[in-house]
Amino acid sequence: MNDWIDDEKARRDRGSNRPLLQSDHWAVNARYPGCTLEYCCDCGGVTGRAGKGEDSLFTDDDEGPYCYDCWVFVLEGRAPDDGEMQAAALSEIDR
Ligand SMILES: [Zn+2]
Repeated sequence: MNDWIDDEKARRDRGSNRPLLQSDHWAVNARYPGCTLEYCCDCGGVTGRAGKGEDSLFTDDDEGPYCYDCWVFVLEGRAPDDGEMQAAALSEIDR
């Protein structure tokens, strides 16, 4: 029999995220490791954000979610290369 954790997994498999309490994230990820983490559509890294409708980074054209590093380059309208990624990381530290 399915419980709410299975329902949440199925919902996310369909691409539909919703905000969860931290304790609920823990419970879902305990059964399905990484299930509620959000991954960048560009580099595949964990975005560290909560999902669409929360603080996730989406373009006006509904592309996303992006991690912060990729988002910087989306805003600038071009793809990053490795040198620029490092420069972005360094400038983030300076702020
Ligand atoms: Zn990324």
